[in-house]
Amino acid sequence: MSFDSLGLSAELLRAVAKQGYGTPTQVQSQAIPLILAGHDLMAGAQTGTGKTAAFTLPVLQNLMASGANGSRRVRALVLTPTRELAAQVSDSVRSYGRFLPLRSAVVYGGVNINPQMKALRAGVDVLVATPGRLLDHVTRRTVDLSKVEILILDEADRMLDMGFMPAIERVLREIPAQRQTLLFSATFADNIKKLAGRLLREPKLIEAARPNAAAEAVTQAAYFVDSERKRELLSHLIGTQNWRQVLVFTRTKHGADRLAKQLEKDGIQAAAIHGDKSQGARTRALAAFKRQSVRALVATDVAARGLDISHLPYVVNFDLPHNPEDYVHRIGRTGRGGQSGEAVSLVCAEEGGQLAAINRLLKCEIPAEVISGFEPQRRVVTRRPRTESRGRPHGGGRSAQDTRGRPGGARRKPGGRNAARS
Ligand code: AMP
Repeated sequence: MSFDSLGLSAELLRAVAKQGYGTPTQVQSQAIPLILAGHDLMAGAQTGTGKTAAFTLPVLQNLMASGANGSRRVRALVLTPTRELAAQVSDSVRSYGRFLPLRSAVVYGGVNINPQMKALRAGVDVLVATPGRLLDHVTRRTVDLSKVEILILDEADRMLDMGFMPAIERVLREIPAQRQTLLFSATFADNIKKLAGRLLREPKLIEAARPNAAAEAVTQAAYFVDSERKRELLSHLIGTQNWRQVLVFTRTKHGADRLAKQLEKDGIQAAAIHGDKSQGARTRALAAFKRQSVRALVATDVAARGLDISHLPYVVNFDLPHNPEDYVHRIGRTGRGGQSGEAVSLVCAEEGGQLAAINRLLKCEIPAEVISGFEPQRRVVTRRPRTESRGRPHGGGRSAQDTRGRPGGARRKPGGRNAARS
């Protein structure tokens, strides 16, 4: 399958070639013809599957086909949950549309609204927005959505998780009912299905990657360690294994700040990225990380959602997430575009239940190891947490140390990071 066979125009094919993409990804080859044919779409696709191009390319083409926009009012609206994702989608719109006479803008919160108002006044064909700030523009009447022909909800599940439904409802009232609607979501939970039922008309359904399936190119490992020695172990791993670019997840904003500071003290350039940081600080941290002047980027789940860093080789779960699905999102940051990646989880005694929940979701066991010199004093037991109501009964209280050598996931030796690669 090649891009040529998908029905895209010469200008878009040129932009794709300039981007360096040889073949379409699965979601691209499925979604592009359906969107070009004018269908509504419900797509199960996570970040990393190429979903942004999967909707941007055909949307740009449909806009070209439907004619000029004399009034320069918004004709395609992309809603995303986070500022970072909005900025990335907007960059993609610009790259893929580089040979087309279409204008785009991006609006999100945390930055001055005036330049956004100016851009909107000048007129845009494609608007990428986070729901909160868009609502702000709607209330101020600084955006006109009455000519929207295509609505795209990107990472719809996360938008609902983040409580954006009321804002989305309000925005929907401004948009014509007669339109094409595309909904992208990593999972098809009941609330997403309900939303889709209301917004989409006879949608085509595609599922690029199985929801909840861990990225296959990612090598996973869990290192058992006492909580108070996690930071020391992380510095040790970064140093001895010479990790140049590692995304580290913590559960809390405070934890992210503290860890970044401690890593700096250990001589590892680090920056934290989370919701309390100004947009400027977040953009600067991400840019520094991308050009590798920051070696460890410490992030919370919400801040990291949708980060597009090509070829990110290492992801570390400094804390395990409470929600096992977040584990899948986190490790999806690596192993993209056919590159291999490694996801390492530092697991302390208090997190045994969380590790068990993740293993149940993945339907395999993440290989567990102990790094010499960091043997935990408190045993990590991966028994099923009593408080959890979801999921099926598990094998009962066994020590995760017993899981060594069990099937599931490529395992590698401590210190020998090339062992699992050839
Ligand atoms: P996304 O899922 O949209 O966040 O895209 C994930 C990454 O894959 C981005 O870095 C894209 O630039 C890249 N990408 C998208 N489509 C392709 C393709 N057909 N071939 C190679 N890389 C791609």
